[in-house]
Amino acid sequence: MSDHTTVPPGGGSASPSYGIETSQSSSFELPPDVVEYRDLARRIVREEMLPLEQEFLASTGHAYGLKEVLSLKAVFSQAVVDRLVKISRDTGFWYLLVPESHGGSGLSMLARVAVMEEFMYTAVPFPFANVPNILYHCKGEQADKYLTPVIEGHKTTSFAQTEPNAGSDPGGMMQTRAVRDGSDWVLNGTKMWISMAAESDFLLVQAVTDSTKRQRGGITMFLVDRDNPGLKVEQPGIRTWLGPRAAQYIVHFDDCRVSDAAVLGEVGKGFTLGQTWLTIHDRLMRGPYALGKMQRALDMCVDYAKQRVTFGKPISERQAVQWKLVDMYVDIQALRALVYENAARADRGQDVRNEAAMVKLCASDWGTRTLDHAIQIHGAMGESLELPLTLFYRYVRNTQIGGGTSEIQRHLIARKLLS
Ligand SMILES: Cc1cc2nc3c(=O)[nH]c(=O)nc-3n(C[C@H](O)[C@H](O)[C@H](O)COP(=O)(O)OP(=O)(O)OC[C@H]3O[C@@H](n4cnc5c(N)ncnc54)[C@H](O)[C@@H]3O)c2cc1C
Repeated sequence: MSDHTTVPPGGGSASPSYGIETSQSSSFELPPDVVEYRDLARRIVREEMLPLEQEFLASTGHAYGLKEVLSLKAVFSQAVVDRLVKISRDTGFWYLLVPESHGGSGLSMLARVAVMEEFMYTAVPFPFANVPNILYHCKGEQADKYLTPVIEGHKTTSFAQTEPNAGSDPGGMMQTRAVRDGSDWVLNGTKMWISMAAESDFLLVQAVTDSTKRQRGGITMFLVDRDNPGLKVEQPGIRTWLGPRAAQYIVHFDDCRVSDAAVLGEVGKGFTLGQTWLTIHDRLMRGPYALGKMQRALDMCVDYAKQRVTFGKPISERQAVQWKLVDMYVDIQALRALVYENAARADRGQDVRNEAAMVKLCASDWGTRTLDHAIQIHGAMGESLELPLTLFYRYVRNTQIGGGTSEIQRHLIARKLLS
C-alpha cells in the first residue's frame, strides 16, 4: 500500500484550536487535518482489513482480544502480519497514541479518537503501539527495559489492580502488600481477572505499602517481570465468554522479591497512577472503541433491512425495524458528539475526568443496546459467527463491567453532580 500518505512528524496539532465552542456548539465538524488522518484510516480499513475479516472470524476464537500483533499472528501468515505492521509504521499510525515527547505522532486527542473509531469498524485488529499511559512514568533504565520495548511492540504488559475481594473499591479493599526488606520490596497477595497476564512480559502491579493511608498515599505501583520466581500465573485461566478474550488470569505473588528500581513513579502514588490510566487512556478511548462497532452494525443493518423480504415487503418498511434503526443512529450521533467534545476539551487542557466517565458509561450502555438491535434485525443470521455482530456485542457488553462498571461510572458522575 505504497500510496498511503503519512501522519506528518509532530502531527500538526499539538495544541489546536478546533473552532468548536464546547457544549453550545451545534456543529462538530472536524478540522481538515483530522479529516485527512481519519480518511486515511478509513481507506486502510476498507482496502486492507475488511478483506481479511472472514478469515479472522473463522479462526478458533482464542486469538480475539490478545494485544493486536499477537492476535494477528495467531490467525494470519507472517506475510500478512508484516504487511499490516508496515502500513501502520509507514503511515505513522503505529505511534497514534504515543506522546510526541516519546517519538509519537503528537496528534491531538480529537484526531486520535476520530482515527481510532475507523480502526474499530472491523473485527481485524490494527497493529499499533498499545502503551498504558502509566508507563510514561518510567525513568532512566526503567524506560529502556519496559517503556521503549512496549512502544516498539517487542514487549507486552498487563495492569494488575483487581483482586478476589477488591473490584469496584480497590483502594479500600486491596489486600496485596509490599513490604520493604533492605533495598528490596517483597510482595504477597493475589490479583484476579488480569487480562493478558499469561502472555505479558511484565505486569504493572498495585500493592499496599502503607495500610493507614491506602489510596491516599499508601498504594505503590511495581514493575514485575513475569519470570520473577515469586510470581505465578494460574493456569488454566478463568474462562469467560463476554469479554474479548477466552480467559482472564489469577496471579499469585508469593514472597515475590523486587528491587527498589521496580517502583514506578513514587512510593505511595501508585493508586493515582492507576486512576490516570483509567480516566484518560481507558475511559475516553472506550468511546471510539464502541463507536466503530456501532457504526458498522448500523451500516450492516441498513443494507440487510432493505434486502430482506418478509410478507411481500423488505423489513426496512416495517416501523418496528425502522425504530430500531433510528435508535441506533441517534445513539451513535449522540455518542460521537460527546466523544468529540470531550476529546477537544482534553486537548485544551481541561479536566475531563467526569466527562470520561460519561463517555465510558454511554459507550458501554448505548453500544450494548445498539449491538443487541443489530443482532435482532438480522434474525438468525445475527447469531452467525460469519458476521462480526456477536463478537462486537461481547466486546462492548464487557465494557459495562471491565475497567469500572457502569454503576461505578454513575457513582463518579453523581459525586461530581452533587458536590
Ligand atoms: C474481561 C475482564 C477483563 C478485566 N481486566 C482486568 C485487568 O486487566 N486488570 C484488572 O486489574 N482488572 C481487570 N478486570 C476486573 C474489573 O475491573 C472488575 O471486574 C470490575 O472493576 C468490577 O469489579 P468486581 O467484578 O469485583 O465487581 P464488584 O465490585 O464486586 O461489584 C459487583 C456489582 O455491584 C455493583 N456495585 C459495586 N459497588 C457499587 C456501588 N457503590 N454502587 C452501586 N453499585 C455497585 C457493581 O457495579 C457490580 O454490578 C477485568 C474484568 C473482566 C470481566
